[in-house]
Amino acid sequence: MQRLALFDLDNTLIDLDTAFLLWAEEFAEEHRLSRKAVDYLVKLDRNGLPHREPFFSKVHERFKLSASAADLWAAYRRRMPHLVECRPEVMAALAGLRTSGWRVGIVTNGTADNQLGKLQRTGLIDVVDGYALSGIEGIRKPDVGLFEIAANRCGTSLADGGWMVGDHPVADINGGHAAGLNTIWIDRGTRPGYEHSPDHVVTDVMCATDILRDIGE
Ligand SMILES: [Mg+2]
Repeated sequence: MQRLALFDLDNTLIDLDTAFLLWAEEFAEEHRLSRKAVDYLVKLDRNGLPHREPFFSKVHERFKLSASAADLWAAYRRRMPHLVECRPEVMAALAGLRTSGWRVGIVTNGTADNQLGKLQRTGLIDVVDGYALSGIEGIRKPDVGLFEIAANRCGTSLADGGWMVGDHPVADINGGHAAGLNTIWIDRGTRPGYEHSPDHVVTDVMCATDILRDIGE
């Protein structure tokens, strides 16, 4: 099997949940909402409406905001790339994999401006061979097509297999499996009850890069 490692972005390479909390606190302050509003936003994100379009329709309604749902969503996409971080050890681990002969790519669902902004602001765009963003390609995980694009951008194809690392049981693990990849699931304890069978289960992306490094040796 070839040394191709594809990674999900949100809550895999970057801690989106922490960035989301920062955003929610800023949002509440800007719109003069209570502390309870922050809890509401976080709960809505985690358990209810992770997709941003219905999310911001609901937020617009709930807090009777004058700005439209579309404007609130656009402001979110502008701000989010400034709030996410990729830990230096994760950046170094990706660079280390490439040094030892791995091709490293990112495959992520989300709007083009937000996801590309995150890749640029964190510097991740400079430490990988390629990336495939659903908002640019018009195709979403778990569709195999997005994994194929990511592999192509890394200068290869899915024909010789490889690995997919991500936190979403369906988009990343079932999708990666359907794409003919071995999989490592990052279990954050937030997605119980999905049918999926990853090859490895870890709690942090650093454990996943350790596994890949050992396999590659
Ligand atoms: Mg994710």
